[in-house]
Amino acid sequence: MPVITETAIRELAAFRSSGSPVVSCYLDVDGRRQVRPQDYEHRLDSMFRELGGASELAASRADLDVISTYVRSGFDRSGVRGLAMFSCVEQRFWQVLALPVPVSNHVAVNHAPAVEPLEQLVHELEPLGILLVDRQRARMFVFQFGELIERAELFEALPRDYDTRDEASRGAREREQHHTDALVAQHLRHSAEVAFRHFQDRGFAHLTVGGTDDVYAATVATLHPYLRERLTTRVPLGVGASDKEICAAALDIEHRLELEKEARLVGRLRDSIGTHSKGVAGLVDTIAAINDRRVATLLVSEGFVESGWRCPSCGSLARKGPSCPVDGAEMTHHDDVIHEIVDTALRTGCAVEVCVGNADLDVMGRIGALLRY
Ligand SMILES: [Zn+2]
Repeated sequence: MPVITETAIRELAAFRSSGSPVVSCYLDVDGRRQVRPQDYEHRLDSMFRELGGASELAASRADLDVISTYVRSGFDRSGVRGLAMFSCVEQRFWQVLALPVPVSNHVAVNHAPAVEPLEQLVHELEPLGILLVDRQRARMFVFQFGELIERAELFEALPRDYDTRDEASRGAREREQHHTDALVAQHLRHSAEVAFRHFQDRGFAHLTVGGTDDVYAATVATLHPYLRERLTTRVPLGVGASDKEICAAALDIEHRLELEKEARLVGRLRDSIGTHSKGVAGLVDTIAAINDRRVATLLVSEGFVESGWRCPSCGSLARKGPSCPVDGAEMTHHDDVIHEIVDTALRTGCAVEVCVGNADLDVMGRIGALLRY
């Protein structure tokens, strides 16, 4: 599947249809919350049903079919938490992007692909810098969206083994050794500079370095302070690692960083509830905060499902129905109101963290939110 980059988005956004409109469809397929494909297939169907009335709809029926068929085709879900699909059958235009983060369900019918949610994602997803280095080689990678999106290589050959025959005096050998050490040190400085240039281009949030103990220590010591503060666990790879090994190691590191981030956020939530400031926990209070648009970051335990209600007239969510507490309208019952909460959060620009195996959040009621105010 194509990599999401600024360029890819611009190319997508540049497509214009003069005839039949483009159908853009974002679908949350997050396996952490929706274990069975039927869960998101039903959501897709109901989204399409709700589209009714649009004048372009007749022309777009074929596009809805293409999207529906794709979603039901049993695409590879590993690492995929959201899908972005764009179809204009009439112009033979079809693009699907697999997203490593969940997206808010959304269908748009327009003369161009709706790419705003992708723009948001690109800024949200932090790339990982990977620097593999030895005494004369360095390879720099930027890993994002499950792929290596950038790479650079540096080779600074050391002189071949100096003559070690008996007539070489001890002094000469020491000078040669000294010279080699200086060249290696210079190479490691250059390697750190390569990493810094990539950082300036990409602004990765974390950097990992791989190398033997001595090379690792020397490289880390020469890193720019901006990079040193972004340094994460050492990657257990040498310069010769294959792309596959690098991607696997990068996913491991991202996974660990993710768990750390979740733990940090849950810790903040626990503290803010302890001090009664800018935090809520439990379903009822979280729903109230979502309705009030006070949520900055929503935290949900993986697999948490509860039923609830949504008001079709004002959009408010509620734990208990059937009358909307805001306007008294008759609300719609949802088997999974957590999904409605996550969807609203994503749509209104909140950060959403689905926490895996975080016992602290479970104790607080499996859902909570850090608030804006
Ligand atoms: Zn209402």
